Amino acid sequence: MKLRRGTRLIENHDMDGSMSPESTQIPGQSFRRLLPQAGHGTAYHLINGELTPSADGATFDSINPATGELICKVALGGAQDVKAAVAAADRAWREGPWSKTTASERAAILRRIGDEILARKQAFAELESLDSGKPMSETLNGDIPRAAYNFHFYADLCNHQVSPSFRSDDGSHHTTVREPLGVVGLITPWNLPLYLATWKLAPALAQGNAVVLKPAELTPLTAYALHEVLKAAGVPAGVVNIVQGFGPDSAGEALVKHPTVKAISFTGETVTGAAIMAAGAATLKKTSFELGGKGASIIFADADIERAAKTSARAAMRNQGQVCLAGSRLLVEESVAPRVIEILKSELAKIKLGDPMAPDTTMGALCGVEHRNKVLSYIEHACSLPGVKIEMGGRVPENMPKNGAWLEPTLITNVQQDSRLVQEEIFGPVLTVQTFKSFDEAMSKVNGTKYGLSCSVWTRDIDKANQAANKIRTGIVWINCWFVRNLHTAFGGMKQSGVGREGGQYSLDFFSEMKTVCVANPLHERHGLVWI
Ligand code: NAD
Repeated sequence: MKLRRGTRLIENHDMDGSMSPESTQIPGQSFRRLLPQAGHGTAYHLINGELTPSADGATFDSINPATGELICKVALGGAQDVKAAVAAADRAWREGPWSKTTASERAAILRRIGDEILARKQAFAELESLDSGKPMSETLNGDIPRAAYNFHFYADLCNHQVSPSFRSDDGSHHTTVREPLGVVGLITPWNLPLYLATWKLAPALAQGNAVVLKPAELTPLTAYALHEVLKAAGVPAGVVNIVQGFGPDSAGEALVKHPTVKAISFTGETVTGAAIMAAGAATLKKTSFELGGKGASIIFADADIERAAKTSARAAMRNQGQVCLAGSRLLVEESVAPRVIEILKSELAKIKLGDPMAPDTTMGALCGVEHRNKVLSYIEHACSLPGVKIEMGGRVPENMPKNGAWLEPTLITNVQQDSRLVQEEIFGPVLTVQTFKSFDEAMSKVNGTKYGLSCSVWTRDIDKANQAANKIRTGIVWINCWFVRNLHTAFGGMKQSGVGREGGQYSLDFFSEMKTVCVANPLHERHGLVWI
């Protein structure tokens, strides 16, 4: 199969970024206006408001995972670049206009950032699809509008914070106020690139911090393209700095170790979270970790089976299964298992695997060939397990570009609880099915992994749903739904799925310091009532 637009565009793409004015208007070509412009052809860092090459001139390749072709070069950041970015952020926070902004001024800027993203929605969606392999149907209707909404949401919220106040018996007044931390570091993964970067950026800015963002090396481009949006929205130079690069021995590690950086908000793998916690210990970093997941969908026999099975298929396959909240394992009550598996097969058969840039594609490429091969290794492992059955998929499709990161949606049944397929995060389009006979067995299986991020429970029995919600050890429990969120609610994982919570006020709390101000009553001292 030849990719309809993506391939052709890459072939035609001028690496100096030059483009005709019409190309900014034509759907399928507008991403080009966000790529590096004429001259350098490299996606540079954003440091102190300027697009800046790496101090040592190093670069890495941004690859289209659907085809394996080069999109453009990206500046490869290291300790020197992080140092410059942190210095710019520190100046912006301490001395620049940002330090003098009020919450309502910041709210207005955040609103403009959201508006500027929406004004470029088509271009951002195309760029995200190109860089990550996810279909346009998701980036255009999901990732990019949500990235804009992250700013609109925090624009509203940052203006409505309350400061608790107490009056003591002696007449003194005590108020706790929130202040910015200063310079904060944001480190983000590749599965929801702009969506997750902005989910951290918006509350960090709302609280008046200055930021250094280190986007994932596999998907650097929509974060790069933010420079235009930030400028248009009037964000002062140095308030948002973006350093591209890798994690260990690269920009990520340098950011975590930098003494001026007060906090790290990180989303990524559990092992990376542990490495960041260790590296940040010497400088006492405040940390928020959103880590890996191994979400389950539990279908009880009394559920609306059709709805439960269809949503469970989507929960496993959305974004090629590369969602931390994916329902990657299905636990189904034995009596309804045959019917559920039948519906799952029919849903997976409807998935349209294809060019991420085509509007009717429902499953694109995985984020890179290396990651696809890791996912494939789990399927190979499944083939070696006695009794385990690959019901559907499990192969690299032959009709897709051979250098792309393709994999068929895969359904595996008869999987045992202690299997690596159940215990480890596969992070691809692979759904495993296990059966259970009793409520207690279902609870034991759902809680029987080291992860605790999310879970969906399907039942018509409200008491059973309530009992399950009480027993399940995950940060979010959905009853008869999946992926439904209100941004005010706490988001995060139990066990190895995270430390801390983000969302709504929780993010604003993370990105701020509390200060208590006590105003004495003169009578207080006169009576000698000084207590601590
Ligand atoms: P990753 O941990 O490999 O990388 C994430 C980011 O951390 C990247 O920017 C990377 O460069 C950086 N990094 C890596 N090592 C580092 C180090 N030693 N120091 C500093 N930075 C370092 O994760 P990934 O593969 O990009 O993303 C997939 C993972 O993210 C999955 O485990 C998924 O479940 C998880 N995730 C979790 C959530 C959530 O909300 N809980 C959301 C999305 C993704």
